[in-house]
Amino acid sequence: MRFLLVEDDPMIGASLRNALRQEGHAVDWVRDGRAAQSTLASERFDLLLLDLGLPQVPGLEVLRGLRAAGNTTPAIVLTARDELEQRVALLDAGADDYLVKPFELAELTARIRAVLRRAAGRAAPLLEVGDVQLDPATRQVTRSGEPVILSAREYALLEALMLRPGALLSRAQLEDRLYGWGEEVESNAVSVYVHQLRRKLGEDFIRTVRGVGYYVGTPRAGA
Ligand code: CA
Repeated sequence: MRFLLVEDDPMIGASLRNALRQEGHAVDWVRDGRAAQSTLASERFDLLLLDLGLPQVPGLEVLRGLRAAGNTTPAIVLTARDELEQRVALLDAGADDYLVKPFELAELTARIRAVLRRAAGRAAPLLEVGDVQLDPATRQVTRSGEPVILSAREYALLEALMLRPGALLSRAQLEDRLYGWGEEVESNAVSVYVHQLRRKLGEDFIRTVRGVGYYVGTPRAGA
């Protein structure tokens, strides 16, 4: 998943980015409201983590502008305790959830999973394609009921594919899911992870459309 983190506190920002990267997400980090606005106008993210107290443009204004522009990217707002009275305004402005600092990382990641699940409109949290099941809550993957051990990046790639069964994802789209800004993209990384996933999940599980991309499941009409 590709996240945009908007946080002006360098320590909080760095620790959040590192923790979320370790979970296998691609995290881009900007430090003020104006940078957030221009980034959101030009790039697509799966989730926005938005600090409320920001230089240049406050978080609430960033969020209102985003929703006014019809952008439905799921958003979790990070607030300081003394900003709590803004809760109602936040939810009215289109926040999907909020967390009060300081918070436990485990709580943030649980809320991220819940927000992404709701955003995908899935009642059941389990993803299933063929004999492979993926549980985003526990990050466990099984094949015919047997656990499959994956690295963080293998998991991220598999999750991106299983969230949209039948949809073709290009190499560039998958690289976006694996790497944030400033992270060097290893050449052939996607092919390497696809190869490793096929070894673990069966050669036919991930299909290649040569020169176009990859998909799992039954291809959609026109795909
Ligand atoms: Ca702040």
